Amino acid sequence: MKNEKLYREALEVMPGGVNSPVRAFKAVGAKPIFLVKGRHSRVWDADGNEYIDFLASWGALILGHAPKKVVKAVQEEAQKGLSFGLTNPHEITLARLVVEMVPSVEKVRFVNSGTEATMSAVRLARGITGRKLVVKFDGCYHGHYDSLLVSAGSGVATFGIPGTPGIPEEIAKLTLVLPYNDTQALRKAFEEHGKDIACVIVEPVAGNMGVVPPKKEFLRAMRELTREHGSLLIFDEVITGFRLSKGGAQELFGIEPDITCLGKILGGGLPVGAYGGRREIMERVAPEGEIYQAGTLSGNPLAMVSGSETLKELRDKEPYDELEKKTETLAKGVSDILSEKGIPHTINRVGSMMTVFFTEGPVVDFESAKRSDTELFGRFFRALLGKGVLIPPSQFEAWFLTTAHEEDDINQALERIREAVKEL
Ligand SMILES: *Cc1c(COP(=O)(O)O)cnc(C)c1O
Repeated sequence: MKNEKLYREALEVMPGGVNSPVRAFKAVGAKPIFLVKGRHSRVWDADGNEYIDFLASWGALILGHAPKKVVKAVQEEAQKGLSFGLTNPHEITLARLVVEMVPSVEKVRFVNSGTEATMSAVRLARGITGRKLVVKFDGCYHGHYDSLLVSAGSGVATFGIPGTPGIPEEIAKLTLVLPYNDTQALRKAFEEHGKDIACVIVEPVAGNMGVVPPKKEFLRAMRELTREHGSLLIFDEVITGFRLSKGGAQELFGIEPDITCLGKILGGGLPVGAYGGRREIMERVAPEGEIYQAGTLSGNPLAMVSGSETLKELRDKEPYDELEKKTETLAKGVSDILSEKGIPHTINRVGSMMTVFFTEGPVVDFESAKRSDTELFGRFFRALLGKGVLIPPSQFEAWFLTTAHEEDDINQALERIREAVKEL
């Protein structure tokens, strides 16, 4: 039982035995597994168990595990040196790909994670507008930056209360938390605080309360209101960027934000984040402008090569229709299996991201997402894991497909899920 032994060892030297809380499997009442290998649509744990993987490194993988071209490019680059701390040519390659693919981005700054991207984007928005308030939406996750790790109190347009000890109230108070998909609450917030709002930050398709699609009028109103009041609109496309289309959610919905945050797929499995936007916005970033942000390992050559090879593949092959079709098959299959067992559920899906909620739904915001039976989700998760299907260890996350998930993988996953659901 190597998994258990590793967990005991990990607990001695890392808080909770992990480096990111959900990995401890606490929310689903299970012992964490330790992964040692990934190939295409599959991963293997330390005990040699194989899983069909719908976690896909939290959506960071879209070509499956260890795609040949990407691995080869990283290996070759590694021979030449692991880090220089000065600019290398691969940064230009990846920046050009981002500018070419993401409609609203003309210049981009690379960082090392999604958290750094949103943190820097908010600083930029505050620096440009000279204002303090940030509007975010309940249930959206933008990384663990103080100003964004804030949850809503009750009621509409509540000033945020800290989501964790360690965030001073004075900082949380600068964040205004509104319900997702609530255009009226957004209008009201702008009526009351418009001249103080530096930016609105949103997941244009929510993935971190489980998948929740936006109402189109919600995104449109957000674009109009920010423009009207001189605030900046930040799309956090850390999940949706390069996943929903090659230009992300902004391309899919035809709405251009002022600043875009990227991460996950951008690094092709290595740690890369980015924020970008129109030329006149990004020219305010140091050293061109006065708004400071820096990084010792930013633009790391291995990470740039991994990201570039991944984006090239997506740009050239545009696998999005096929990804969507396969995800639809999976969603429909899971729904049929649950219906046969008489289990109430709602499946939200946009492109190749989906979430199974154990409620009759509809799920349109965090309030309705929280109606899901999380105890049942825990049993569902454990049953799937036991049959060799890995999904995110929390109700409020998205399942992801990759181009490495073939039709056979989906069919096999559905067989395993059918067996698992029998045991519920
Ligand atoms: C994952 C995620 C982040 C944070 O990215 P990290 O690389 O984990 O810091 C930010 N925003 C969204 C929408 C995410 O899904």
